[in-house]
Amino acid sequence: MRKFSFVYGLIFLLLCTSVEAQVVGLDILVSHQSGDILKDKEGWVEVIKGDLPLVLSVPHGGRFKDEQIPDRDCPDLGRVVKGIDMNTKELAMAMQEHFYRQYGKRPYVVIANLSRSKVDQNREIELATCNDPVGIKAWHSYHSAVAAVVTDAKRYGKVFFVDVHGHAHKVQRLELGYNLTTKQLTSAYNHKNTDKMPGTSSLANYFAQGGNKDFYDMLFGTFAFGTLLEKNGVCATPSLQDPHPQEGEAFFSGGHLTRKFTAADFPYVFGVQIEFHFKGIRDTDSNRKKFAEAFAKTYWEFIKNI
Ligand SMILES: [Zn+2]
Repeated sequence: MRKFSFVYGLIFLLLCTSVEAQVVGLDILVSHQSGDILKDKEGWVEVIKGDLPLVLSVPHGGRFKDEQIPDRDCPDLGRVVKGIDMNTKELAMAMQEHFYRQYGKRPYVVIANLSRSKVDQNREIELATCNDPVGIKAWHSYHSAVAAVVTDAKRYGKVFFVDVHGHAHKVQRLELGYNLTTKQLTSAYNHKNTDKMPGTSSLANYFAQGGNKDFYDMLFGTFAFGTLLEKNGVCATPSLQDPHPQEGEAFFSGGHLTRKFTAADFPYVFGVQIEFHFKGIRDTDSNRKKFAEAFAKTYWEFIKNI
């Protein structure tokens, strides 16, 4: 086993390079190959270059409490949430590794190593940083890395952006945030008042670019992402099997990063915020691997059919 690890490590070193830059921008990304690890100078942000039009963003899995940046404390600007989404970085890494092992291709991964107690990458800049000047730099470092990654990934096709989070809600299922609330999902399922929803959802660019499936099918159809997850053994809403949360059930409908990177400024990107429950998905190495397998299967079935 030790010998194997050594050989594996050597192969990794030969195949992949790890590079440090001021910020991870497009100029740096284009000159690297799939599997290369790129970091900003301060170690706040880490990017693993991919070769699929799939981007995993992990804004809340970081543990680095950089002392240059004070803990966030600005309740006058909004609700300051500082907790880590435990093991989401490990989950995204397991997903990337499975893709490479099974299919020989990797999604892009962008990870905030900086703790959410210092900067919340999934908020508008003020609440994210409490206006700390170094925190502002760290926020820009993450956001410019995501912008660079989605731009680089588009050479492989329309980009599917997945913002990876962890929830602690009672109902144990994946919450798919398309920027649609429980009320909107319930209306959409009942074919009511749906006129404006596609354009404000995180799938807006898919529809604007002439996607084959309609709004209802993308949420509740046979080839909706949630439906395929359920088929592959993972509970998820919205889906054909579990169309929308019930009134009063906690549900995350999508956040800043998902809104920003699936907006008109990035017309080739559509996506979803996925909030993962802990037990059976994020908790152990073998569960993360098992989920990674189901996710990759779901992704291929989804992409081929939409
Ligand atoms: Zn989160």
